[in-house]
Amino acid sequence: MLQLLTAEEIAFLEKQNLALDEVLWVEGMSVSERKAVMKAQGKLIAAGGSPCAIAGHRLRTRHGHCVQCDTAKIAFASRASKSASVYVLHSHSTGLVKVGVTTNIDDRLANLRSQAYGEATDWKVVFLSPELKNAGRIEISLHKALRSHEHEGGFSMRAGTVQRSTECFSCDSEYAVGLAKRLIDKD
Ligand SMILES: [Zn+2]
Repeated sequence: MLQLLTAEEIAFLEKQNLALDEVLWVEGMSVSERKAVMKAQGKLIAAGGSPCAIAGHRLRTRHGHCVQCDTAKIAFASRASKSASVYVLHSHSTGLVKVGVTTNIDDRLANLRSQAYGEATDWKVVFLSPELKNAGRIEISLHKALRSHEHEGGFSMRAGTVQRSTECFSCDSEYAVGLAKRLIDKD
């Protein structure tokens, strides 16, 4: 996901403490597709769709409001101000690692398994932090630190729509857990 966003967009997400997990890349999706996939996956922000008329921003709510023009739309749509846990998951079958934030790890796991996220249905939790105020910011730092290990997930078809799985990493799960712990300690 980081590779698809501009530096300005990443800085905006960090400032708002929005997690990458909450962003869906919607390039090429119709409005109805975007809404359906965002709802199904619990995503708050759509990125990469048509730019806003005022300033050409690309981050919008599910309903199409530009969150960069009006940050109040985020507060309305999001859990940005709530605490959440940072997690690291590992899939034995693919060897991939996924990092993210959630307020409900059981729901997140069930959702990722049922989507076969990253073509894996055996995601297991290898690290779960306590609830942290700055979980979104830590997640972005973690993605940045793991960037060189990003796995090209490509595209998969689910429920008739194309979904992108670019949030997995090909790295040792212990390495990702170590990084997560260090970033949390530092924050
Ligand atoms: Zn805008």
